Amino acid sequence: MYKLISSFKEIDVKEKTLIILDIDDTIMGYKEFNHTYFMNKLDYYTQEHKNEEIAIKKAVKDWITMVENSTPFHMDYDGYKYLLDKINETQSHHIFITTRNLEHKQLTESHLYQIGVVSEHIYYSNGTNKGELLQQILHKYTNYDNIVFIDDLDKNLDDMKRSLGDKVELYQFIKKLMI
Ligand SMILES: [Mg+2]
Repeated sequence: MYKLISSFKEIDVKEKTLIILDIDDTIMGYKEFNHTYFMNKLDYYTQEHKNEEIAIKKAVKDWITMVENSTPFHMDYDGYKYLLDKINETQSHHIFITTRNLEHKQLTESHLYQIGVVSEHIYYSNGTNKGELLQQILHKYTNYDNIVFIDDLDKNLDDMKRSLGDKVELYQFIKKLMI
């Protein structure tokens, strides 16, 4: 069980923190459908292939076809603006790690731009383990004393914990119900 948050305002940003954000269903969602579509596809391909990595790749591929014709929205615009202020105050920094494929870079950046998010620090894991990807890129971010990771999916949080253990503080983003 991870710390559950429904706003980025709930993140404890200490001095010099490297904050890693997931994209889909953490910072950005789509009006036309939600991540149930992705999870259904993932279940289907997991049963078919009995291989998590292949299943994720195939589910992402199907899902991105839906995304191409969808309208993105910001999951927590006010919270994100608040987080950016905190990041400035604390000499912190934020990056994004997504399981999307690098070939979706243009689409991803365009959708992020539409919701007011511009970043040169977006890493694409292509369906592979986010924890292992972070370990590979961490040498680029040596000037930070703390690491925070926010994602909506248990699998990614588990992978991050397995790779970095107590070095990383983990938050699970749960979307507020829009009533
Ligand atoms: Mg996600």
